[in-house]
Amino acid sequence: MKREPLVMVCTCEMSGRVRGKGFPAADLPARLVKGVGWVPTNTMISAFGPIFSTPFGTGGDLVLVPDPMTAVEVEFGDGSAAERFFLGDLRELDGTPWACCPRDFLRRGLAALKAEAGVELVAAFEHEFVYTGVADAPGSPYSLDAYRRQGVFGEALMAALRAAGVEPDSFMAEFGARQFEVTVAPATGLAAADRAVVLREIVRATAHRLGERAIFSPILDPDGTGNGVHIHFSFRDGDGRPTLHDPAGPHGLSEPGAWFVAGIMHHLPALCAVTAPSTVSYMRMRPNRWAPTHATLARQDRGASLRVCPVMPGGEPAKQFNVEYRCADAAASPYLALGALVWAGVDGIRKRRALPEGDGAPLPASLAAALDALEATPEAAEWFGAAHLSTYLMHKTGELTSLSGLDEHAQCARYAATY
Ligand code: GLU
Ligand code: MG
Repeated sequence: MKREPLVMVCTCEMSGRVRGKGFPAADLPARLVKGVGWVPTNTMISAFGPIFSTPFGTGGDLVLVPDPMTAVEVEFGDGSAAERFFLGDLRELDGTPWACCPRDFLRRGLAALKAEAGVELVAAFEHEFVYTGVADAPGSPYSLDAYRRQGVFGEALMAALRAAGVEPDSFMAEFGARQFEVTVAPATGLAAADRAVVLREIVRATAHRLGERAIFSPILDPDGTGNGVHIHFSFRDGDGRPTLHDPAGPHGLSEPGAWFVAGIMHHLPALCAVTAPSTVSYMRMRPNRWAPTHATLARQDRGASLRVCPVMPGGEPAKQFNVEYRCADAAASPYLALGALVWAGVDGIRKRRALPEGDGAPLPASLAAALDALEATPEAAEWFGAAHLSTYLMHKTGELTSLSGLDEHAQCARYAATY
């Protein structure tokens, strides 16, 4: 069969699903300038497919313009069509950013961080997921046996990630049934979130080539183990020097680092609405799951919401030093999750917020409670912009309502089918 290469340009909006449009690869130079057509209501396509409500109706036109820095081209060498896609920005027809562009939300937050503290954020997203191509077996966590039984998936994945420009760092059989984890090298700001989007798709793409699925849903069984997304971050100054660390500071944090982390701590309940944005996200964040349950900051404690990571022997401490945000999962768009973290941190810097003392308050117990916290956060309207924020709240409220009456197992099944 004769074939002509296609390229897709994609965005990752409120549902956390990656959507876009394709075109013949021969048209790429023109498409890099003009993009593809898009409509505002697309941001209201729920994780499950239907549009439950929309403030935009059928009106409006936008363009989705590929960012040349995000080019992904992965040949699997098995005769299947290559994964060939770009990530892009949502713009108005006059070229200005669309008010609800998720990449612009992050980009503006990063610019505010630079303006307030003169630093760039460096981040890495750590992902856990379930691979359907391996049977669960007793004693599997971290085992060589589970690692072996996943077959060629892991090695095919490493090759595909590297070809996609995502530098893999580790691959392991995690604690949960059929659960695996991939970590990757850090990147600066926007590129870190791009990498998270690409990583999820390449993991799914590799599993798909093997006739299987990789499921990133926050939790597949209310009594099981969750799939977390842990966001590691640090600062670099204009000369590339690490500036999050000060051995004499609280928890080893520099002054701007402590303000930034205090901002995240302060806004944690509201942040959950963006970083843990599904109903099942709150089944993951329950006791004895190595997932956070309280708004806590701790040095080297994997039960905390924010973990100050250890400095390993051999390396330069300031370079390694990073903080891990553990309240995220893959129902969130990486742009919105990282953007919300950055904006909350910027708020901490602006207000010189102090790190909290004592035991942290419980995290929101449900998506509804987290959405209430977000709605009650006056700063959020400035971070998102009023229209973006109200649209996000409408999107998530629609999702919540669509699940009403379903028990926890049924909700897990819904999300497992989509993420
Ligand atoms: N699976 C846990 C989570 O949902 C994390 C386990 C770990 O510390 O890697 O966040
Ligand atoms: Mg893990």
